[in-house]
Amino acid sequence: MPVPRVRFAPSPTGYFHVGSGRTALYNWLFARRNGGVFILRIEDTDTERNREEWVDGIVEALAWLGLEPDEGPYRQSERAARYQSAIDTLWDAGYLYACDCTQEAVRTRRMMGATPGYDGFCRDRGLPREGNALRFRTPAEGETQVHDLIRGTVTFRNNTMEDFVVARSNGQPLFVLANIVDDRDMKITHVIRGEELLPSAPKAILIWRALDAAAKGGAGPGGAGPGEAGPGGATPLPVWAHLPILVNEDREKLSKRRDPVAVEMYRDQGYLPEALRNYLALLGWSPPGGAEKVPVGVLVDNFALEDVNHSPAFFDVKKLSHMNGEYIRDLSVDEFVDRVRPWVDPVTRRAAGGWVPESVGPPPWPPERFDAAVFLRLAPLVQERVATLAEVPGLVDFVFLRDPVMDAASWEKAIGSDPGAAALLDAAFRAYEEVRWSADALREATVTVGEQAGRKLAKAQAPIRVAVTGRTVGPPLFESLEVLGREEVLRRLMAALRRARTG
Ligand code: GLU
Repeated sequence: MPVPRVRFAPSPTGYFHVGSGRTALYNWLFARRNGGVFILRIEDTDTERNREEWVDGIVEALAWLGLEPDEGPYRQSERAARYQSAIDTLWDAGYLYACDCTQEAVRTRRMMGATPGYDGFCRDRGLPREGNALRFRTPAEGETQVHDLIRGTVTFRNNTMEDFVVARSNGQPLFVLANIVDDRDMKITHVIRGEELLPSAPKAILIWRALDAAAKGGAGPGGAGPGEAGPGGATPLPVWAHLPILVNEDREKLSKRRDPVAVEMYRDQGYLPEALRNYLALLGWSPPGGAEKVPVGVLVDNFALEDVNHSPAFFDVKKLSHMNGEYIRDLSVDEFVDRVRPWVDPVTRRAAGGWVPESVGPPPWPPERFDAAVFLRLAPLVQERVATLAEVPGLVDFVFLRDPVMDAASWEKAIGSDPGAAALLDAAFRAYEEVRWSADALREATVTVGEQAGRKLAKAQAPIRVAVTGRTVGPPLFESLEVLGREEVLRRLMAALRRARTG
C-alpha cells in the first residue's frame, strides 16, 4: 500500500469552526496512525469571501490544537495555471460546453416545469468558450458510485446530476474542479471531510475519470476504481470518508450564528487545547472500551475511519466544559499557574513575549496590584474549582482589588436579609483580632463564634465570606482569609459591619 496522503482543505471564510477542527483532527489521526502525510491546503479561490486574516486563523488554530501539517499550506490562489490546464484538457476532449444562460433564465425555465437544476439548454448550441461559463456534460445514463469508508457505497444516478459549472464566465474555476485537480496533483489517497460535501463526490469522480480518459487520448467513461491504478496509468481515485454532521442539543446542524462554534472563542475562554482535541475526537468515534478522557497517543494508536459512526454527533458544550475542568485538574500547580498567566497577569506575560488571548479583556484589578507569590498560594484552591481558565480572575479578584466588588444579591442573601449577621460579623471581628493567623485556627475560631450565635459553621461563614470577598461563592474561606492577611480581613469586616448597621 502506498504511503497514505490526506489533506485538510478549509476555505478561509470565517472563524475556525469546531467542525473544521474535528475534520482536521481526523485527518491528522489517520495520518499519524498509518504513517501517512497530513497536508494543509487553503481553498482560497473565492476572492469575494476569502480574507487573509482567516488564513492566519487556520494556521494558528491548527498549531494551537497541535495539528501541524507535514506539507503545506498549499494555496489554490497560487495554482490557477493547473486549473486552466485541466479546463483546456476537458474542453479539448469535449467534456465541457459553453453556457450563457443567466441564473434568472435558468430559474424561469425551472418554474415552468423543466427538470430540476440546469436543463441542458446550451448543450448543443456550440457557443464559444471565451466569455461564457463552462459546464460539464454529465452522462444521461448509468450511475456513479462513491465508495465511502463510513457510509459504504453510495450510488448516484447520473440522470439526477445536472450539467454543473466548472468555470465561471471570467475563467475562474469552481470549487469542484480546483478541489479535484489538487487531489490528483497532490496524490491524495483518502478524502476525509464533512458529510455536507458528499453530493460533490460523484461530480468529482466524473471529472476525475474524464481527465484520465482525456490523458489516454479519448473521451468516454474509464479510469480507475478506488485505491487502484486504472488501465493506461490512470490516477487512482481516492477513498472517501464523509464525517457525520455536528448538531446542537436540539438536534439542529450547528450554525455559526446560533451556536458557539469558533475554536478561537474556546481558546480565548481558557479551554486547554488537549481537552478540546480530546473532545473533538469523540464526535463520531469512540476510543476502545468507551473511555472518554484519552491521551492523544491512545487516540492515535486506535483511530480507524471504519469505526466512525455515520449518525449526527452532538456537540455538547457542557460535556466539553466538564472535560476541560478535568484536564485543568490534571495539571501540576506550576503548569496551572503558567497556563493561566494570560488571564491573570497579561502585562508581565506580554512583556516577556508570551501569548495573550486577543478577545479577553484585562483582569479586573490594576496590573500593579497583582502579586505572583500571593497568586501561587491561591492557585491550588482555584484549580480545583474552575472549568475554564477565564473563570480564574473572578475567583481571586477580591485579593488583588483594594475593596471587594460587592455583589448586590450576595449581600442581600447573606447580610441584608439576615438580622443576626451584624452581631456575627462583630463577634468574628473580635475573634480574628486575637487568633493565630492560620487557616486551621481561623476555622476553629469561626466554629466557636458560630456556636455562640447558635449557628452551624456554614451559616456562620456566609456573612464573613460576603463581607470579605463580595460573593457567596468562591475558594475555601479560611485559606482565603489566611492569604489576605489579618489587617485587610479586619478592615473589610469593619466596613461591612458599618454598612450592615446603617442599612
Ligand atoms: N474547501 C471545502 C470547505 O471548506 C472543503 C473541501 C474538501 O475537503 O474536499 O468546505
